[in-house]
Amino acid sequence: MKPLLPLEEAQERLIAMAQPLPSEIVPIGDALGRYLAEDVLADRNQPAADMSAMDGYAIRFEDRNGPWQLVGECKAGSPPCPPIQEGQAARIFTGALLPEGADTVVMQENVEPDGNTIVLTSDPSPAKGRHVRFQGGDFEAGDVALKAGIRLNAAALGHAVIAGSGSISVGRSPTVAILSTGDELVAPGSDTKPHQIPASNDVMIAAMLSQLPTQTRSISRIKDDLDSLCEALDSARDCHVIVTIGGASVGDHDLVAPAFQRLGGQTDFWKIAMKPGKPLMAGKLGKSLVLALPGNPGSAFVTATLFLVPLIRYLAGAQEFMPVMQTANTNTVLPATGQRAEFLRAQIDDSGISAFDSQDSAKLSILAAADALLFRPAHSPEQPVGATVSYIAI
Ligand code: AMP
Ligand code: MG
Repeated sequence: MKPLLPLEEAQERLIAMAQPLPSEIVPIGDALGRYLAEDVLADRNQPAADMSAMDGYAIRFEDRNGPWQLVGECKAGSPPCPPIQEGQAARIFTGALLPEGADTVVMQENVEPDGNTIVLTSDPSPAKGRHVRFQGGDFEAGDVALKAGIRLNAAALGHAVIAGSGSISVGRSPTVAILSTGDELVAPGSDTKPHQIPASNDVMIAAMLSQLPTQTRSISRIKDDLDSLCEALDSARDCHVIVTIGGASVGDHDLVAPAFQRLGGQTDFWKIAMKPGKPLMAGKLGKSLVLALPGNPGSAFVTATLFLVPLIRYLAGAQEFMPVMQTANTNTVLPATGQRAEFLRAQIDDSGISAFDSQDSAKLSILAAADALLFRPAHSPEQPVGATVSYIAI
Protein backbone atom coordinates (compact mmCIF):
# COMPACT_ATOMS: atom_id res chain seq x y z
CA MET A 1 0.00 0.00 0.00
CA LYS A 2 1.24 3.48 -0.87
CA PRO A 3 2.27 5.36 2.29
CA LEU A 4 0.07 8.30 3.19
CA LEU A 5 1.46 11.75 2.48
CA PRO A 6 2.66 13.49 5.67
CA LEU A 7 0.49 16.46 6.63
CA GLU A 8 3.17 19.17 6.40
CA GLU A 9 4.29 17.90 3.00
CA ALA A 10 0.72 18.00 1.71
CA GLN A 11 0.28 21.56 3.00
CA GLU A 12 3.50 22.63 1.30
CA ARG A 13 2.53 20.97 -1.96
CA LEU A 14 -0.81 22.72 -2.03
CA ILE A 15 0.81 26.13 -1.55
CA ALA A 16 3.44 25.25 -4.18
CA MET A 17 0.62 24.66 -6.69
CA ALA A 18 -0.73 28.16 -6.09
CA GLN A 19 0.43 31.72 -6.74
CA PRO A 20 -0.78 34.87 -5.01
CA LEU A 21 -3.23 36.69 -7.27
CA PRO A 22 -2.25 40.06 -8.77
CA SER A 23 -3.08 43.15 -6.75
CA GLU A 24 -5.78 45.74 -7.32
CA ILE A 25 -6.37 49.22 -5.99
CA VAL A 26 -9.54 49.72 -3.96
CA PRO A 27 -10.96 52.70 -2.06
CA ILE A 28 -9.72 52.56 1.52
CA GLY A 29 -13.25 52.12 2.88
CA ASP A 30 -13.64 48.88 0.90
CA ALA A 31 -10.38 47.28 2.07
CA LEU A 32 -11.40 45.74 5.41
CA GLY A 33 -10.18 42.15 5.71
CA ARG A 34 -8.07 42.33 2.54
CA TYR A 35 -4.32 41.63 2.47
CA LEU A 36 -2.05 44.58 1.77
CA ALA A 37 -0.11 44.13 -1.50
CA GLU A 38 2.60 46.78 -0.94
CA ASP A 39 4.05 48.61 2.04
CA VAL A 40 2.14 51.82 2.78
CA LEU A 41 4.62 54.68 3.24
CA ALA A 42 3.43 57.74 5.11
CA ASP A 43 2.95 60.76 2.85
CA ARG A 44 2.87 63.16 5.77
CA ASN A 45 4.10 63.81 9.29
CA GLN A 46 1.64 63.06 12.04
CA PRO A 47 1.04 65.42 13.70
CA ALA A 48 1.97 67.78 10.86
CA ALA A 49 2.98 70.42 13.47
CA ASP A 50 3.06 70.74 17.26
CA MET A 51 -0.49 70.76 18.58
CA SER A 52 -2.46 70.65 21.78
CA ALA A 53 -3.56 67.33 23.33
CA MET A 54 -6.01 69.09 25.68
CA ASP A 55 -8.49 71.88 26.00
CA GLY A 56 -6.64 74.60 27.97
CA TYR A 57 -4.13 77.38 27.55
CA ALA A 58 -0.91 77.48 25.52
CA ILE A 59 1.94 79.03 27.50
CA ARG A 60 5.73 79.30 27.68
CA PHE A 61 7.10 76.80 30.23
CA GLU A 62 9.16 79.61 31.85
CA ASP A 63 5.84 81.29 32.71
CA ARG A 64 4.34 78.15 34.24
CA ASN A 65 3.30 79.84 37.49
CA GLY A 66 1.14 82.46 35.75
CA PRO A 67 -0.72 84.70 35.84
CA TRP A 68 -1.09 85.16 32.08
CA GLN A 69 -2.56 87.78 29.85
CA LEU A 70 -5.05 86.13 27.45
CA VAL A 71 -4.11 87.05 23.86
CA GLY A 72 -5.91 84.73 21.45
CA GLU A 73 -7.81 81.58 20.71
CA CYS A 74 -6.51 78.58 18.75
CA LYS A 75 -9.08 76.08 17.37
CA ALA A 76 -8.63 72.74 15.62
CA GLY A 77 -8.87 73.26 11.88
CA SER A 78 -7.69 76.90 11.95
CA PRO A 79 -4.30 78.13 10.78
CA PRO A 80 -1.92 79.00 13.67
CA CYS A 81 -3.07 81.83 15.91
CA PRO A 82 -0.67 84.76 16.56
CA PRO A 83 2.55 84.15 18.52
CA ILE A 84 2.58 84.58 22.28
CA GLN A 85 5.13 86.61 24.23
CA GLU A 86 6.43 86.46 27.80
CA GLY A 87 3.56 86.36 30.34
CA GLN A 88 0.92 85.64 27.72
CA ALA A 89 -1.38 82.64 27.12
CA ALA A 90 -3.69 81.66 24.25
CA ARG A 91 -6.91 79.76 24.72
CA ILE A 92 -6.37 76.44 22.93
CA PHE A 93 -8.47 73.37 22.11
CA THR A 94 -7.53 69.73 21.44
CA GLY A 95 -6.03 69.34 17.98
CA ALA A 96 -5.28 73.07 17.50
CA LEU A 97 -1.81 74.17 16.37
CA LEU A 98 0.38 75.55 19.12
CA PRO A 99 1.05 79.27 18.57
CA GLU A 100 4.65 80.29 18.00
CA GLY A 101 6.39 80.97 21.31
CA ALA A 102 4.29 78.45 23.27
CA ASP A 103 5.78 75.09 24.27
CA THR A 104 3.39 73.81 26.97
CA VAL A 105 -0.36 73.50 27.53
CA VAL A 106 -2.04 74.03 30.91
CA MET A 107 -5.34 72.14 31.30
CA GLN A 108 -8.36 74.39 31.63
CA GLU A 109 -9.30 72.54 34.85
CA ASN A 110 -6.12 73.96 36.47
CA VAL A 111 -6.74 77.66 35.83
CA GLU A 112 -9.39 80.31 36.31
CA PRO A 113 -10.05 83.32 34.10
CA ASP A 114 -10.25 86.69 35.85
CA GLY A 115 -11.29 89.09 33.11
CA ASN A 116 -8.47 89.04 30.57
CA THR A 117 -6.09 87.49 33.07
CA ILE A 118 -5.73 83.78 33.69
CA VAL A 119 -4.55 82.55 37.08
CA LEU A 120 -3.26 79.14 38.13
CA THR A 121 -5.47 77.27 40.65
CA SER A 122 -3.39 74.11 40.86
CA ASP A 123 0.25 72.97 40.71
CA PRO A 124 2.27 74.43 37.85
CA SER A 125 3.06 72.33 34.79
CA PRO A 126 5.78 69.84 35.82
CA ALA A 127 7.51 69.63 32.44
CA LYS A 128 8.09 71.54 29.25
CA GLY A 129 5.94 70.11 26.45
CA ARG A 130 3.15 68.91 28.80
CA HIS A 131 -0.07 68.18 26.85
CA VAL A 132 1.62 68.91 23.52
CA ARG A 133 1.64 66.46 20.62
CA PHE A 134 4.85 67.13 18.78
CA GLN A 135 5.30 67.21 15.01
CA GLY A 136 6.01 63.67 13.76
CA GLY A 137 5.45 62.19 17.22
CA ASP A 138 3.23 59.44 15.78
CA PHE A 139 5.11 58.94 12.49
CA GLU A 140 7.07 60.89 9.90
CA ALA A 141 6.71 61.18 6.13
CA GLY A 142 8.49 58.22 4.52
CA ASP A 143 8.00 55.87 7.50
CA VAL A 144 6.53 52.44 6.71
CA ALA A 145 3.02 52.80 8.09
CA LEU A 146 1.81 49.28 7.16
CA LYS A 147 3.73 46.26 5.90
CA ALA A 148 2.81 44.29 2.77
CA GLY A 149 1.02 41.03 3.50
CA ILE A 150 -0.80 42.10 6.66
CA ARG A 151 -4.54 41.70 6.96
CA LEU A 152 -6.19 45.11 7.02
CA ASN A 153 -8.24 45.48 10.20
CA ALA A 154 -10.16 48.56 11.26
CA ALA A 155 -7.18 50.17 13.00
CA ALA A 156 -4.90 49.53 10.00
CA LEU A 157 -7.41 51.29 7.72
CA GLY A 158 -7.41 54.25 10.08
CA HIS A 159 -3.61 54.27 10.05
CA ALA A 160 -3.50 54.19 6.24
CA VAL A 161 -5.87 57.16 6.05
CA ILE A 162 -3.96 59.26 8.57
CA ALA A 163 -0.76 58.41 6.66
CA GLY A 164 -2.33 60.01 3.58
CA SER A 165 -3.95 57.12 1.64
CA GLY A 166 -7.36 57.39 -0.02
CA SER A 167 -7.06 54.09 -1.84
CA ILE A 168 -4.90 51.06 -1.24
CA SER A 169 -3.29 48.19 -3.13
CA VAL A 170 -4.55 44.79 -1.98
CA GLY A 171 -4.39 41.22 -3.26
CA ARG A 172 -7.39 40.23 -5.37
CA SER A 173 -10.04 38.08 -3.74
CA PRO A 174 -10.06 34.55 -5.13
CA THR A 175 -13.28 33.23 -6.62
CA VAL A 176 -14.28 29.95 -5.02
CA ALA A 177 -16.91 27.44 -6.12
CA ILE A 178 -18.26 25.19 -3.36
CA LEU A 179 -19.65 21.95 -4.78
CA SER A 180 -21.38 19.45 -2.53
CA THR A 181 -22.32 15.99 -3.61
CA GLY A 182 -24.50 13.20 -2.23
CA ASP A 183 -27.90 11.72 -3.12
CA GLU A 184 -28.83 11.98 0.56
CA LEU A 185 -28.46 15.76 0.76
CA VAL A 186 -31.44 18.10 0.94
CA ALA A 187 -31.65 21.89 1.28
CA PRO A 188 -31.36 23.43 4.79
CA GLY A 189 -34.71 23.52 6.57
CA SER A 190 -36.36 20.91 4.31
CA ASP A 191 -38.40 18.00 5.64
CA THR A 192 -36.11 14.99 5.67
CA LYS A 193 -36.88 11.32 5.21
CA PRO A 194 -34.70 8.85 7.17
CA HIS A 195 -32.44 8.33 4.17
CA GLN A 196 -31.84 12.04 3.77
CA ILE A 197 -29.81 14.66 5.66
CA PRO A 198 -29.68 18.44 5.44
CA ALA A 199 -26.60 19.63 3.56
CA SER A 200 -24.85 21.17 6.56
CA ASN A 201 -21.33 21.26 5.17
CA ASP A 202 -22.25 23.65 2.38
CA VAL A 203 -23.26 26.36 4.83
CA MET A 204 -20.40 25.56 7.22
CA ILE A 205 -17.67 25.79 4.58
CA ALA A 206 -19.22 28.91 3.02
CA ALA A 207 -19.27 30.46 6.50
CA MET A 208 -15.56 29.71 6.98
CA LEU A 209 -14.81 31.39 3.66
CA SER A 210 -17.04 34.37 4.34
CA GLN A 211 -14.51 35.53 6.94
CA LEU A 212 -11.85 35.75 4.22
CA PRO A 213 -11.57 37.87 1.08
CA THR A 214 -13.36 35.58 -1.38
CA GLN A 215 -16.21 35.58 -3.82
CA THR A 216 -18.01 32.28 -3.44
CA ARG A 217 -20.46 30.42 -5.63
CA SER A 218 -22.42 27.49 -4.20
CA ILE A 219 -23.28 24.54 -6.39
CA SER A 220 -25.09 22.46 -3.82
CA ARG A 221 -26.33 18.90 -3.63
CA ILE A 222 -25.04 17.42 -6.89
CA LYS A 223 -26.27 13.86 -7.40
CA ASP A 224 -23.83 10.96 -7.02
CA ASP A 225 -23.71 10.52 -10.74
CA LEU A 226 -20.66 10.95 -12.95
CA ASP A 227 -22.34 13.10 -15.61
CA SER A 228 -23.86 15.48 -13.06
CA LEU A 229 -20.55 15.83 -11.28
CA CYS A 230 -18.64 16.44 -14.52
CA GLU A 231 -21.16 19.08 -15.53
CA ALA A 232 -20.88 20.82 -12.15
CA LEU A 233 -17.09 20.73 -12.12
CA ASP A 234 -16.99 21.99 -15.68
CA SER A 235 -19.28 24.91 -14.84
CA ALA A 236 -16.89 26.01 -12.06
CA ARG A 237 -13.74 26.12 -14.21
CA ASP A 238 -13.76 29.92 -14.25
CA CYS A 239 -13.13 29.99 -10.47
CA HIS A 240 -9.66 30.22 -8.98
CA VAL A 241 -10.54 27.45 -6.52
CA ILE A 242 -13.05 24.62 -6.72
CA VAL A 243 -13.83 22.97 -3.39
CA THR A 244 -15.81 19.77 -3.47
CA ILE A 245 -17.38 18.27 -0.37
CA GLY A 246 -18.07 14.56 -0.07
CA GLY A 247 -17.54 11.73 -2.54
CA ALA A 248 -13.78 12.00 -2.14
CA SER A 249 -13.18 8.52 -0.80
CA VAL A 250 -12.94 5.28 -2.73
CA GLY A 251 -16.51 3.94 -2.35
CA ASP A 252 -18.50 3.01 -5.47
CA HIS A 253 -20.44 6.27 -5.12
CA ASP A 254 -17.44 8.47 -4.45
CA LEU A 255 -17.24 9.99 -7.87
CA VAL A 256 -15.32 13.21 -7.39
CA ALA A 257 -11.98 11.70 -8.44
CA PRO A 258 -13.43 9.87 -11.49
CA ALA A 259 -15.25 13.04 -12.63
CA PHE A 260 -12.13 15.13 -12.09
CA GLN A 261 -10.06 12.69 -14.10
CA ARG A 262 -12.61 12.43 -16.90
CA LEU A 263 -12.38 16.21 -17.36
CA GLY A 264 -8.59 16.01 -17.59
CA GLY A 265 -7.81 17.14 -14.04
CA GLN A 266 -4.26 16.57 -12.77
CA THR A 267 -4.09 15.09 -9.28
CA ASP A 268 -1.23 16.43 -7.18
CA PHE A 269 -1.88 14.45 -4.01
CA TRP A 270 -4.55 12.21 -2.56
CA LYS A 271 -4.70 10.61 0.89
CA ILE A 272 -3.02 12.38 3.74
CA ALA A 273 -1.57 10.99 6.96
CA MET A 274 -4.11 12.82 9.09
CA LYS A 275 -7.16 12.03 11.16
CA PRO A 276 -9.77 13.10 10.36
CA GLY A 277 -9.32 14.02 6.70
CA LYS A 278 -7.41 11.13 5.15
CA PRO A 279 -9.27 11.16 1.78
CA LEU A 280 -8.36 14.79 0.98
CA MET A 281 -7.36 15.28 -2.64
CA ALA A 282 -5.76 18.27 -4.38
CA GLY A 283 -5.09 18.92 -8.03
CA LYS A 284 -5.62 21.23 -10.98
CA LEU A 285 -8.40 21.41 -13.50
CA GLY A 286 -7.16 23.77 -16.19
CA LYS A 287 -6.25 26.91 -14.24
CA SER A 288 -8.47 26.10 -11.26
CA LEU A 289 -7.07 24.61 -8.09
CA VAL A 290 -9.27 21.77 -6.90
CA LEU A 291 -9.50 20.69 -3.30
CA ALA A 292 -11.72 17.71 -2.59
CA LEU A 293 -12.79 17.58 1.06
CA PRO A 294 -14.25 14.49 2.71
CA GLY A 295 -17.97 14.68 3.56
CA ASN A 296 -18.06 13.93 7.25
CA PRO A 297 -18.54 17.31 8.93
CA GLY A 298 -15.59 16.93 11.30
CA SER A 299 -13.32 15.89 8.43
CA ALA A 300 -14.57 18.69 6.18
CA PHE A 301 -14.00 21.25 8.93
CA VAL A 302 -10.50 20.05 9.83
CA THR A 303 -9.31 19.81 6.22
CA ALA A 304 -10.81 23.21 5.42
CA THR A 305 -8.98 24.69 8.43
CA LEU A 306 -5.65 23.14 7.47
CA PHE A 307 -5.77 23.37 3.69
CA LEU A 308 -8.58 25.49 2.28
CA VAL A 309 -8.30 28.52 4.57
CA PRO A 310 -4.48 28.78 4.22
CA LEU A 311 -4.80 28.41 0.44
CA ILE A 312 -7.33 31.24 0.21
CA ARG A 313 -5.20 33.48 2.43
CA TYR A 314 -2.13 32.74 0.32
CA LEU A 315 -3.94 33.48 -2.96
CA ALA A 316 -5.31 36.72 -1.47
CA GLY A 317 -1.80 37.93 -0.60
CA ALA A 318 -1.34 37.02 3.08
CA GLN A 319 2.18 36.95 4.48
CA GLU A 320 1.13 34.66 7.35
CA PHE A 321 -1.29 32.15 5.93
CA MET A 322 -0.91 28.96 7.97
CA PRO A 323 -3.12 28.34 11.03
CA VAL A 324 -1.65 29.74 14.23
CA MET A 325 -0.66 27.05 16.71
CA GLN A 326 -0.92 27.85 20.41
CA THR A 327 -0.05 25.73 23.41
CA ALA A 328 -1.93 24.56 26.50
CA ASN A 329 -1.70 21.78 29.08
CA THR A 330 -3.85 18.75 28.46
CA ASN A 331 -6.51 17.86 31.03
CA THR A 332 -6.81 14.32 29.67
CA VAL A 333 -4.35 11.54 28.91
CA LEU A 334 -3.68 11.51 25.17
CA PRO A 335 -2.97 8.09 23.66
CA ALA A 336 0.05 7.55 21.42
CA THR A 337 -0.55 8.30 17.74
CA GLY A 338 0.29 6.15 14.73
CA GLN A 339 1.30 7.21 11.25
CA ARG A 340 -1.43 9.84 11.08
CA ALA A 341 -1.39 13.31 12.68
CA GLU A 342 -4.58 13.86 14.65
CA PHE A 343 -6.75 16.88 15.26
CA LEU A 344 -8.96 16.28 18.27
CA ARG A 345 -12.02 18.41 18.82
CA ALA A 346 -11.44 19.96 22.23
CA GLN A 347 -12.55 22.59 24.69
CA ILE A 348 -10.16 25.07 26.17
CA ASP A 349 -10.46 27.09 29.35
CA ASP A 350 -8.23 28.40 32.16
CA SER A 351 -7.65 24.86 33.46
CA GLY A 352 -6.19 23.67 30.13
CA ILE A 353 -7.40 21.80 27.07
CA SER A 354 -9.82 18.86 27.17
CA ALA A 355 -10.28 16.63 24.15
CA PHE A 356 -13.79 15.17 23.84
CA ASP A 357 -14.08 11.45 24.60
CA SER A 358 -15.78 10.85 21.28
CA GLN A 359 -13.91 11.99 18.21
CA ASP A 360 -16.48 10.73 15.71
CA SER A 361 -16.08 13.07 12.76
CA ALA A 362 -19.74 12.60 11.83
CA LYS A 363 -20.88 14.30 15.05
CA LEU A 364 -21.62 17.95 14.61
CA SER A 365 -22.64 18.24 18.27
CA ILE A 366 -18.99 17.73 19.20
CA LEU A 367 -17.61 19.98 16.51
CA ALA A 368 -20.00 22.78 17.45
CA ALA A 369 -19.11 22.49 21.15
CA ALA A 370 -15.37 22.59 20.40
CA ASP A 371 -13.32 25.74 20.45
CA ALA A 372 -9.98 24.15 19.61
CA LEU A 373 -8.42 21.48 17.44
CA LEU A 374 -5.83 19.72 19.60
CA PHE A 375 -2.90 18.74 17.39
CA ARG A 376 -1.26 15.38 17.91
CA PRO A 377 1.71 14.91 15.56
CA ALA A 378 2.12 11.52 13.89
CA HIS A 379 4.21 8.96 15.81
CA SER A 380 3.99 10.73 19.14
CA PRO A 381 4.03 8.87 22.47
CA GLU A 382 1.22 8.95 25.02
CA GLN A 383 0.93 12.31 26.77
CA PRO A 384 0.09 12.44 30.50
CA VAL A 385 -2.27 14.96 32.08
CA GLY A 386 -0.48 18.30 32.30
CA ALA A 387 1.70 17.79 29.20
CA THR A 388 2.05 20.80 26.92
CA VAL A 389 0.26 20.30 23.62
CA SER A 390 -0.43 22.44 20.55
CA TYR A 391 -3.82 23.50 19.32
CA ILE A 392 -5.54 25.69 16.77
CA ALA A 393 -8.28 27.94 18.11
CA ILE A 394 -11.49 27.62 16.07
P1 AMP B 1 -18.83 11.00 1.66
O1 AMP B 1 -17.52 11.73 1.83
O2 AMP B 1 -19.58 11.47 0.47
O3 AMP B 1 -18.64 9.54 1.71
O4 AMP B 1 -19.69 11.40 2.91
C1 AMP B 1 -19.34 11.02 4.22
C2 AMP B 1 -20.46 11.36 5.17
O5 AMP B 1 -20.64 12.77 5.19
C3 AMP B 1 -21.82 10.78 4.78
O6 AMP B 1 -22.48 10.38 5.96
C4 AMP B 1 -22.52 11.94 4.12
O7 AMP B 1 -23.91 11.83 4.21
C5 AMP B 1 -21.98 13.13 4.89
N1 AMP B 1 -21.97 14.32 4.03
C6 AMP B 1 -21.47 14.41 2.79
N2 AMP B 1 -21.64 15.63 2.28
C7 AMP B 1 -22.29 16.35 3.22
C8 AMP B 1 -22.78 17.70 3.28
N3 AMP B 1 -22.63 18.54 2.27
N4 AMP B 1 -23.38 18.09 4.42
C9 AMP B 1 -23.53 17.23 5.46
N5 AMP B 1 -23.10 15.97 5.46
C10 AMP B 1 -22.50 15.50 4.34
MG1 MG C 1 -21.21 10.85 -0.51
